[in-house]
This record gives sequence, structure tokens and C-alpha cells, in this order.
Amino acid sequence: MPSSPSPVEYRIRPSNPGAHLFAVSCTVRTLDPSGQLFRLPAWIPGSYMIREFARNIVSLRAESGGKPCAVEKIDKHSWKVAALPYGTRLTLHYEVYAWDLSVRSAHLDTTHGFFNGTSVFLAPDGCAALPCAVVIEAPEGEQYRNWRLATTLPPARPGRTRAFGFGRFRAADYDELIDHPVEMGCFTSARFDAGGVHHDLILSGRHDCDLDRLGADLARICACQIELFGAPAPMSRYAFLVMVVGEGYGGLEHRASTALICSRADLPWKGMEGLPDGYKSFLGLCSHEYFHTWNIKRIKPAAFTPYELGRENYTRLLWAFEGFTSYYDDLILVRSGVIGVEDYLALLGKTVSNVMRGSGRLRQSVAESSFDAWIKYYRQDENAPNAIVSYYTKGALIALALDLQLRAGSAGRCSLDTVMRLLWTRHGRSGVGVAEDGIFAAVREAAGPRLGPRLADWLEAAVEGTGDLPLPRLLKDFGIVFEAAPAGKAPWLGLKLAAGEAEGKVVNVFDGGPAQAAGIAAGDVLLALDGLKLSAKGMDGCLARRRPGERVEIHLFRRDELMQFQLTLAPAPADNYSLKLAPRAGAAARALREGWLGRA
Ligand SMILES: [Zn+2]
Repeated sequence: MPSSPSPVEYRIRPSNPGAHLFAVSCTVRTLDPSGQLFRLPAWIPGSYMIREFARNIVSLRAESGGKPCAVEKIDKHSWKVAALPYGTRLTLHYEVYAWDLSVRSAHLDTTHGFFNGTSVFLAPDGCAALPCAVVIEAPEGEQYRNWRLATTLPPARPGRTRAFGFGRFRAADYDELIDHPVEMGCFTSARFDAGGVHHDLILSGRHDCDLDRLGADLARICACQIELFGAPAPMSRYAFLVMVVGEGYGGLEHRASTALICSRADLPWKGMEGLPDGYKSFLGLCSHEYFHTWNIKRIKPAAFTPYELGRENYTRLLWAFEGFTSYYDDLILVRSGVIGVEDYLALLGKTVSNVMRGSGRLRQSVAESSFDAWIKYYRQDENAPNAIVSYYTKGALIALALDLQLRAGSAGRCSLDTVMRLLWTRHGRSGVGVAEDGIFAAVREAAGPRLGPRLADWLEAAVEGTGDLPLPRLLKDFGIVFEAAPAGKAPWLGLKLAAGEAEGKVVNVFDGGPAQAAGIAAGDVLLALDGLKLSAKGMDGCLARRRPGERVEIHLFRRDELMQFQLTLAPAPADNYSLKLAPRAGAAARALREGWLGRA
């Protein structure tokens, strides 16, 4: 049965992999007789930065009925085609340069192709709610004969489509069209089922991954999350699209898939023993993106319903959507039994240390950090540690503190899970966006009249304020000891050098440290300490022989000028935190802890 023609039809083909070019066409019946507009998004949902994807469109022309039409570029991401009668069939042909090996845009070479719809599909104005048809073609040539295609875009003809085949796909509207990234090439694949959902695992790039092990661990993580929100899962299938590289880390969430980039060494291998840190962090990343299937892809800030893709979309709530997701990513690893309780506590200790090391936490709240993500978190400069707080890490600690208070205050009957399930029912299932005060309201409601109002007020003060969280006291009720390593005898300069560089280039100068007091700046290249040559590697060795309070002389280059500074070494700050099981926790504390993490 031929599928009925869609109002908007796209065709995309890797036309020249060697030149990193996709050829794309978009056909539509014009809606605006004064001239049909087409626009490309300026950002991709999930990554809050204006990226101006239209800069990668390298040529563009329009035709109608076999004749060329005039096209005018009217701003950096919009084109207007000359006036045509209403309903005239019009096709735009354009080429997209794809050479960004990240999960955020598009990449194409002779080994594989990857794209997000936000990088390649121009949106005809007025058509956002109309169904789209997409034909994805394989590149021409014998060398691409074995290429396959992986995407969760629904096939145009379900049941008659070859698994991993090129061909025709469909989307209910533009929002769906751009929410299914596409991978093509000679990838390896595996599948597993969890919570009644078919999951595909797609790995492109060279690797020696133990797919059975990875699939088994992911199946436990996915099942645990589906159980948390309640079956059935909101998606009928799901794909992990993983680009394996020598050095890389990142992920982007979508409604039925995630695009990930990871280091080859972080993947499990046959015969691997124990649980290496790199693999643990890769599983944490997968768990994080999967949790977004609910928390941000379906439970969304009202500010994102709908997304405005031509400009910044402001919300003060990223602490809830990224911070709560960051809290749950590792928590799910321990709850699903993929890691042990002590491993989990070690991960939490690292998060606490990360937050406490940045004095920016005393200047910016997580609500402000969310709002300004576009110009601050995503565009960090040398002063970032002194100026901003991460809504991921501090947001995760706020989630932890809230969860512990909900559990302790209700003798384990209520928790952050209860709040997440309420948000899922109220906002996820219904598609109603979360108002800027909607998380506080959900806490108030989920925790009941006795506990709710107090904790909702506490949460609001925590996300709008810059104070440190009462974690030591809260963890004690769960039989967990929170310790700060004592301020060291080691001396401290109060700066950070570029990792892996031969020369000692200063990356950050920390507030209140000796380097800042002496006038050393980011970008300076340190040459010598007390007249002896310095290297980034040798710095720790030099300092190990000194004591806080001693004066040292530093020679450096600022630009091309040789300069000399006198510093007084300070004691290293106490910013190493660890969380441990209390040796003698009472029965009540053990019960709370087991309700939270499972049995140790
Ligand atoms: Zn995230």
C-alpha cells in the first residue's frame, strides 16, 4: 500500500563522504503566498547554547515545477523563497557540511555518518505541526555496500522495513523529526529487552567491547528506571547510539534514544575483572541519558513546551532536570546492583568534593546557573570556578539532601521517587509543562501536609541560595559518616595548570589563593620556581619539599613579557570529602539506608 504523501518531505543522502557533505532536499506546498520561509534551529534541545547550525549550509537553491525560484537569505538561519501561489509544490536543495565529531550536530566521512535533525532539516514556516516523510539514502559506491542505518525514527511502513536498512521514515511533526538522531556505517549492534522494551546497542568506531557484558549491565539499569516510573515505559523501543573514539565523553538525550561518545578504554572487554572507573562512568552516562527519557524529554519545563529553536529558552529549573537526573544516574547503578554501596558512596564523595572546590558556588545559585546556562555554564572561561556553580553537581546534591529529608521525615514512606512519580503523572503523561515553581509544588503535594510545606520551602531556599547543604547531619541519620580530609600540610599556589602540556600554562587562578594575591593570571606560562626550571609535571614535586607560609619566587611569561612574582604558599584547602558506612549504625538508620540504597 503506498503511503499517502506527507505535507513535508525530506530526502537526505551522504553525497560526498570525502568532502563531509550531505545533500538534503525539502519539499512542501507553500503556505505563505508572499514567500515561503525556511529556518534551521540555532540550538539543539538538551545542549543549552546557541550553535547556529545554519553556518554549515554551504549551498542552497529552490525550484518549483522544474524551474528555479529566487531565494533570499533574510537572517543568519532563515531563507525566503520568492512569492508563489498558495499550495504550490516547492523544493529546496541544499548541502550540509558535517565535520563535528560530537553528539550535538553532524559528522560524515568515509567510515561513518551521524546527524541530528537540527543540523540538517530546514523547517518550512507554518509546518511545525504537520507530518513529515524522510527518505534516508545510502552513499553511492562499492565501498559503502555494507553500510547499515540505525535510528529510532519510525519506518514509513512498519513491518515491511529491513532492520538497520536505509529507506523511508516518518515523523508526526517537526519536533519528532529532530528528536531521532541517525547513525550510518559498518557499526556493531546488539539487542536486549528490559521492562518490555526492545533496546538496540549500536557501536561505531573501532572497539573491543564485550557487548554481552554491556548489554547485561544496561538491561538492569533500564529495567530499574522503568520500574521507578512505572511500566509500561513511554517508548516502545530505544537505542543507545555510541561513537567510540580514543578520547571522548558526552551524551545527548532524545525521546527514544541517546547519542553517546566515549573513550574506547572505558568500554568493558572480554575477561575484564572488577569494575574499572572508566566503565563505571560510562554506565553512569548511559543511566543519565536514559533517565532523561522521562525527566526532560516528557516531564519538561513549561519554558520548553514548545521549544523555540531560533533563540535561547530561559528556565530557572535545570537543577531539577539535569541535577535530579545526575543524582539518579549513579543511584540507579547501586539500586540495580551494577555497583556496590561503597562504590556509590565513593562517587558521591567525588561529587561533594567537586562542588566544594568551586568558590563560584558562593556567588551563583543553581537557579541562576540554570537561567544563565546559555552564556555561562556552556561558555565557561578561565574565571568559571570563581563565578559559577554547576546545576548538574550541586543540583545532584540538592536532590540527595531532599531525598534524605523526605525519607527521614516520613520514616521511609515517601522519597524523591514519590516526587518523580507525581511529576510523571501530572506532567509527563499529560504533556503539561512544569511551571517555574512546579517542582516546589510537587514536593509539597507528594510529601503531604505535615512534611510537604516545610520541605518545599527548604528546596526553594536551597536552589535560590548559595549556602552549603547540611549533608553531614542528614547522612548521619542513614548511618553514613561524612568526612572532610583535614587541611593538608601540603602547600598550595591556588592555580591550575593545563594537563598534559609540557609547559606550565595557567588555566585557572582560584579566588583567595596565593597566585591571585601575587598577581599571577590565567594564560601565564610558568618558567621557574626559585630560579629552577618548572614543568607542569614537576610542579607537585617542587611543592612537596615546601611548607605553607614559605615565600617563593616565580618567573613566568605573560604574552611575550618575562615577569617575576613573589608568593607566600598557603595550606592546601580541605576540599577532599569522603562518605563511609558508619561502623555501628542503629537499626533505624540501617532501615532508612536500605530503603534508599538497598542492602550493603
Ligand atoms: Zn543531562
